Amino acid sequence: MTSPRAGSTILLVEDNEDNRTVYRVILEHYGYRVLEARDGEDGIRQAREARPDLILMDISIPIIDGWEATRTLKDDPGTAHIPIVALTAHALAADRTRALEAGCDGYLAKPVEPRKVVAEVRRWLEPAEPPA
Ligand code: MN
Repeated sequence: MTSPRAGSTILLVEDNEDNRTVYRVILEHYGYRVLEARDGEDGIRQAREARPDLILMDISIPIIDGWEATRTLKDDPGTAHIPIVALTAHALAADRTRALEAGCDGYLAKPVEPRKVVAEVRRWLEPAEPPA
């Protein structure tokens, strides 16, 4: 695999510490810079301050859930352009529809294998790369 574009920053909004660690370690392994937030309020704040290249958004998070946090960021001209990939605990078709309605650009059903997270990130940050 080639290295990601220099300077790509991912904001990981996830309340489960084990998941945060697993996703951070593999994303950093592939050269991404990873910021972490544990709830929707902090996720919104960090997205506005750091303007990451992509956001991985767990849906079930405290204070402000992932649906509402996504809507808030997509309604804000300063953050609307940032791709948001939802991580939901339910592999339901209804969740996929809801993710798209909330403004999410992508969707992964948990449990998400770390390599699938990397693949989805690369799909957004390196769209020009030919398939292996
Ligand atoms: Mn959660």
